Amino acid sequence: MAFRSESDGIAYRYRITVKRGQMIARKRTGIVRDPRYAGHCMEKNHPECPERLDVIYTMLDTFESRGLFLEITPRRAEKDELLRVHSPNHVRRLEATEGKRVYLDPDTITSPLSHEAALLASGGLCLAVEQVEKGLLDNAFALVRPPGHHAERDKTKGFCLYNNVAIAARYAQHTLGLARILIVDWDLHHGNGTQHCFEDNPSVLFFSVHRSFFYPGSGSLREVGKGPGKGYTVNIPLLPGFGDGDYLTLFEKILKPIALEFVPDFILVSAGFDIHYQDPLGGMQVTPKGFAAMTRSILQIAEHCCKGKVVMALEGGYDLEGLKDSVREVLIELADIQFTDPLEIMATADRKKMSMVLWRVKRAYKRYWKNLDTDSDSGLEKTPPLLDRMKECLSQMLMYMKN
Ligand SMILES: [Zn+2]
Repeated sequence: MAFRSESDGIAYRYRITVKRGQMIARKRTGIVRDPRYAGHCMEKNHPECPERLDVIYTMLDTFESRGLFLEITPRRAEKDELLRVHSPNHVRRLEATEGKRVYLDPDTITSPLSHEAALLASGGLCLAVEQVEKGLLDNAFALVRPPGHHAERDKTKGFCLYNNVAIAARYAQHTLGLARILIVDWDLHHGNGTQHCFEDNPSVLFFSVHRSFFYPGSGSLREVGKGPGKGYTVNIPLLPGFGDGDYLTLFEKILKPIALEFVPDFILVSAGFDIHYQDPLGGMQVTPKGFAAMTRSILQIAEHCCKGKVVMALEGGYDLEGLKDSVREVLIELADIQFTDPLEIMATADRKKMSMVLWRVKRAYKRYWKNLDTDSDSGLEKTPPLLDRMKECLSQMLMYMKN
């Protein structure tokens, strides 16, 4: 498991080259895009607004990136695809919102065209997964809305109507015949809906890094899965203030060893950009370069386990400039236009802080994953001194009381 340099990677293996200006795409990266996603508009000044995709689509139409990515026109999700994740009651309730403004929960409202957009979001993601699985594309990014990872089996939640990523994972298994799916969720918020869908299922590994003591309130280290799914839910709750090097440490030291032991057939990513340092709902410190490095880390896992098959789905991200710049970085990494070395970014981590986090996470998960139990020479793995552990415990308690 050594990914030390570009020469270990995949950058020069691909047969197609799309060139625009100075940019050369060495991979066939698909993007799901459609103007109908703008039909979902909750209310004026709502952070989950159509402008989120407008800025991304406008960026994609600039001379610099035009033609570098292969466009996928979405289809609507079929009812049986929705019913693999949601209850018949949930689907009926959402169908009944067509043409209407309905307040579904305190955070989620429909406009007359919301249901259409939601069907296209789930269906578009399924189509991207199918095209990557069939080898028509190397990887893809579904630039869709509404987001999905908070949607539960029987209820909408947190701006989400249908759980796009969960629907796509089930589609990959039931329709495309894949056995093991890895879902990586780097959104600021815990992907409660996705976790609940798969927490007793050892064929889907759900890995989530999110802000602790924050909406939706779930995702503690103790939530490791249920029954035969124990160990296949990996939650890493973080206090605010974590940045590029810190996230990369978690990807390289926790996600990568676990994923290489799990050996997925396909990787889905709930890509939320509300961990960007300028996000109004955030509190994290990730920059576009950090998103590029996280993408590369996932691509390396995919290359090792499943011929590079990765499909991302847009979740949160509410600072329009930060969202646009970060999506751009992710896309040019996916297309192998650039190579960002995760280890280089990891070197910028706050070592003392990360040593504590790694110690807590490994203590919770090493009984399930033997790759986590191996010693490393980085010095990050050592058990922190008792005083530091007590201070950490105190700051967790203070944060809990504050929230
Ligand atoms: Zn979020």
